Amino acid sequence: YLVEPIGAVFQAVSNVQQGSGALRRITEVLELAGEPETGQVPGTAPALAGGPLLQFRDVWFGYEPHRPVLRGTTFDVPQRGHVALVGLSGAGKSTVFALTERFYDPDRGLVLFDGQDVRDVQRHAHRARIGLVEQHCPVLHGTLRENLMYAAPDADEGELRRALELAQLTELVAQLPRGLDTDAGEQGIALSGGERQRIAIARALLARPQLLLLDEPTAHLDAVNEAALRSSIRETAKECALLVIAHRVSTVREADVIVVLDGGRVVATGRHGELLAESARYRALSPG
Ligand code: ATP
Repeated sequence: YLVEPIGAVFQAVSNVQQGSGALRRITEVLELAGEPETGQVPGTAPALAGGPLLQFRDVWFGYEPHRPVLRGTTFDVPQRGHVALVGLSGAGKSTVFALTERFYDPDRGLVLFDGQDVRDVQRHAHRARIGLVEQHCPVLHGTLRENLMYAAPDADEGELRRALELAQLTELVAQLPRGLDTDAGEQGIALSGGERQRIAIARALLARPQLLLLDEPTAHLDAVNEAALRSSIRETAKECALLVIAHRVSTVREADVIVVLDGGRVVATGRHGELLAESARYRALSPG
């Protein structure tokens, strides 16, 4: 008698949590809509050819005065490749994403994108170069195609196919009798959390971002979804810069660079093998 109602309660709590994240973002976007557009068009400042895409330079930031969350954070994300951000809960990983997208500005220090201070760039133009894939990705109503095209209504079939390939969804779509025209809403196919996140990756890639921010799921993924996420990260990192809040040893092992954040400071950077040998803090975080 109890299994179903208890399951429903857990589902409701999870929906509310997802909803509150979405609401925060919607509120932020609405606030932004009323904001006068200042700053330059991206790319108007001369960027160093071949320089990093994203640079945090001695960034200090706190949500409240006198309580810094980032304390002199410094790291680079190159134009291509997979950078993993790891650290304990509260280390400041999501805050790095928030400053990268310019939901907040640093109290001190600089966030540079293509060599340009992000405060000097029009905010909507800055965000248009960044894709964000959050941990929990509710699929919207409608067909898979509608869900994918939402961010890039002008994308053609070729671009759609490429995004599906990068997100390791080609096989899944091929198995559906109605393909991309399958209903992905509540009455439609049941998609796992891993599949929903890869749909969000494909959707973000269709908008051709220079930088993709990905918050990896902490929840359990089955072996198939875990491998698909790994391949998707590997393939995507060839197309654009990828900054991943990493929770999975299996993907961290493959990162080109791992940035270890501890109390808002970068305490080590390097590849998995190097950090295992050199960083006690990384060893403490990494079960592998
Ligand atoms: P997790 O892995 O748990 O998501 P994290 O490394 O992403 O952690 P952040 O979410 O960046 O860490 O949080 C860093 C600190 O900033 C925490 O102490 C958190 O409580 C605080 N914090 C985060 N967002 C806000 C906010 N909107 N207002 C006030 N404090 C916040």
